[in-house]
Amino acid sequence: MKRNIIIVGGGASGIISALRLKMENPDLKVLLLEQNPRIGKKILKTGNGRCNISNLNMSSDHYNQPQFLSSCLRKFSVNDLVDFFQKLGLILRADSFKRLYPYSEYATTVLEVFLQALNKYQIDVRCNQEVKEIFITDGFVVKTENDIFESDFVIVATGSLAQEKTNGYELLKKLNHTKTALEPGLVPLKTKENLSSLRGIKIKCKARVIHNDKILHEEEGEMLFKEQGLSGVLSLNLSRYAQPESIISLDLFPNTEILPILKELTKDKDLENVLLGIFPKMLVYEILKRSKHQNLFDVAKLIHNLEYEVVGKYSFSNAQITLGGININEINYDFSSKLNKDLFIIGEVLDVDGECGGYNLHFAWVSGIIAADAILKHFEKKL
Ligand SMILES: Cc1cc2nc3c(=O)[nH]c(=O)nc-3n(C[C@H](O)[C@H](O)[C@H](O)COP(=O)(O)OP(=O)(O)OC[C@H]3O[C@@H](n4cnc5c(N)ncnc54)[C@H](O)[C@@H]3O)c2cc1C
Repeated sequence: MKRNIIIVGGGASGIISALRLKMENPDLKVLLLEQNPRIGKKILKTGNGRCNISNLNMSSDHYNQPQFLSSCLRKFSVNDLVDFFQKLGLILRADSFKRLYPYSEYATTVLEVFLQALNKYQIDVRCNQEVKEIFITDGFVVKTENDIFESDFVIVATGSLAQEKTNGYELLKKLNHTKTALEPGLVPLKTKENLSSLRGIKIKCKARVIHNDKILHEEEGEMLFKEQGLSGVLSLNLSRYAQPESIISLDLFPNTEILPILKELTKDKDLENVLLGIFPKMLVYEILKRSKHQNLFDVAKLIHNLEYEVVGKYSFSNAQITLGGININEINYDFSSKLNKDLFIIGEVLDVDGECGGYNLHFAWVSGIIAADAILKHFEKKL
């Protein structure tokens, strides 16, 4: 039986695309192929198990491809997404940073709603089906280890190398697509300094990435110290700009000069006790250890500029996303391939990435919806 649409990859973008297609046109024959024993494995890992689905503070500035994203966000806004999920029965709520989560704050809820909907709309989902090859014939032939399927359209939604394996890039290379260089993104930074005494400490601060005396990026947020590096949302976002020999300079008391405060408080307490009233204990000892003269000026300077040297990044197995992917110049704004109008490429396999805060899942959802809408139009025309 020839399908109308085969979707390769049962992750965020593939699932939402399948749902959109069948919700809008129940007559379509949609097949979703997933290599893992279950769909949506990565969704369960997102947002520390809470799934940061999207962000109400949405604009193309949060992405590496702002021009391309402007078009996507005009076609399907964050409010459209909230309504779409509501229609599925997935209620969202925002935190104080405008990040959207499922109301339960459990990623499992998101997958549960998807599984219910895939069942309700009778979408043919086949797991343990790694696609090995896609051939262009009169339509497409899609080969897995044991099966061969045919379809009019193919949507490639194979994701990236971040905490997963995929041959998606190779599948598309065989269809003459090219990819940019791939590297781990939103990934902790390895530092020259051993940070074991600070391990587990979280601090809200401002961080700068300095390379060859130039400030490459500056951002405020939460830093988490790891044994041999820096993590937390702030460090993950800095990882785009940092490279070996970059300096990460932390301002632990941003936007206010700490020296006058220290001067005032040390009138009746010693410096160590004053600092213990402001910062976590082990961080106080780190500051005092680094301070040459242990005087107010020296300590104040360190508080506004605590430096760490980057020696590298953690690997794909620690990364949340992959930087790079299938060249966006080879894709139309409706996510059809410029090389074959019936082939669509969506989600993270493309060279599109966003900041921490729900932006990567947002792109997965939006690209899945826009591709589905383009295919739906095609079937409208046929009727
Ligand atoms: C630990 C972690 C936390 C994250 N937290 C967040 C967050 O809170 N908010 C956010 O916005 N983003 C987050 N992300 C990023 C986000 O999960 C991804 O950007 C998003 O899942 C990408 O969706 P996708 O559909 O493109 O790929 P995926 O969700 O990875 O789905 C791709 C699917 O395709 C399958 N596949 C691959 N190749 C084949 C093949 N040849 N045949 C069949 N199937 C194949 C894979 O097994 C996979 O199931 C996080 C990522 C990680 C790793």
